[in-house]
Amino acid sequence: MEGACRGAGRGELREVEASCRDGRYREPMLFTHRGLSGPAMLQVSSHWQPGDEIVIDLLPGEDAFAALCAARDATPKRRLSTWLGERLPKRLAQALVEWHGDDGVLAECGNARLQAWGEALNRWRLKPAGTEGWRTAEVTLGGVDTRAISSRDFSVAGLPQLRFIGEVLDVTGELGGHNFQWAWASGVACGQSL
Ligand SMILES: Cc1cc2nc3c(=O)[nH]c(=O)nc-3n(C[C@H](O)[C@H](O)[C@H](O)COP(=O)(O)OP(=O)(O)OC[C@H]3O[C@@H](n4cnc5c(N)ncnc54)[C@H](O)[C@@H]3O)c2cc1C
Repeated sequence: MEGACRGAGRGELREVEASCRDGRYREPMLFTHRGLSGPAMLQVSSHWQPGDEIVIDLLPGEDAFAALCAARDATPKRRLSTWLGERLPKRLAQALVEWHGDDGVLAECGNARLQAWGEALNRWRLKPAGTEGWRTAEVTLGGVDTRAISSRDFSVAGLPQLRFIGEVLDVTGELGGHNFQWAWASGVACGQSL
């Protein structure tokens, strides 16, 4: 995947559906100079482990194969790149056409070819080389095991003078303020008990 879509629609947020393991998110995605970012990638990164594949639906809610077949019937002289350019940022459409080495008028495209495009658009599979790591992370996975912590006053079982709250605990929220909420709520509960 590396280099596949370099410069494709950079800086444009568009809604996609990204999934990895049991995480699936319909959120905007962003192409940056370094790779993929935006809410969809931040969310899915909480499920990703090195070596995992992520699947991105670039046209969520649209069956690309069926739409391409319909377009072939209705407008057989239209080029694939034109069709793509109506749905995706122009530079992304162009990059995809170059990457797949496939452009042409729809009338020339057999079902197998359109099916391959449908797959590429609705189920773009890629293996990220890595994440940006701590430098840009918004939330950490893992932490102090909550089974050892009282949910009433956040003290450690058998060591009540020691308490943990917030991010340091093994609690990870999705985007949308859940991590702040957890940090504040656990802090209040702990503070009030003292
Ligand atoms: C860029 C960014 C964007 C984020 N956006 C969101 C968001 O939109 N919504 C959301 O819910 N969450 C967001 N988060 C996550 C959220 O900020 C954290 O989950 C939350 O701040 C955790 O609070 P905390 O008090 O547990 O830990 P922290 O906020 O990390 O506080 C720990 C404090 O302890 C201090 N400290 C560390 N070591 C020592 C030491 N030895 N002695 C004394 N002090 C020490 C640190 O300096 C720090 O001030 C974001 C995080 C980042 C980095």
